[in-house]
Amino acid sequence: MHIALIAHDKKKELMVRFTIAYQHILKDHHLYATGTTGKKIMDATGLSVHRFLSGPMGGDQQIGALLAENRMDCILFFRDPLTSQPHEPDILALMRLADVHNVPIATNVAAAEVIIRSIKQGDLAWREIVQQKREEGEES
Ligand code: PGA
Repeated sequence: MHIALIAHDKKKELMVRFTIAYQHILKDHHLYATGTTGKKIMDATGLSVHRFLSGPMGGDQQIGALLAENRMDCILFFRDPLTSQPHEPDILALMRLADVHNVPIATNVAAAEVIIRSIKQGDLAWREIVQQKREEGEES
């Protein structure tokens, strides 16, 4: 699975604790993150994370671009709903693309726990079929 991890500033500590708790599952997947979130996860867990730009500098849009091509299988996005974000349009665009392409997206830790356990159980294996179809489409 290709999993994107994003956390707003006030949620970064929570994301670090989440990735430590679920490291045993996350280690078997391809991980992507916005810049600062990714650095904090890597420092805390040693997991390998492909880091994009920081969110406000375009990182959400970079993840959105992969979503648009169906190259991302789930988004774990710890949003801070109580602080205004300079890149609010990018955040909305990311969530919109997840809905366009039916990609599971968690916007808080409670939903992220459900999704990560689903991944462990194989409930998101259908995403592999989506990926396979995309690859076949690229070949033809
Ligand atoms: P960051 O970006 O991980 O680079 O802080 C996340 C965000 O604030 O959107």
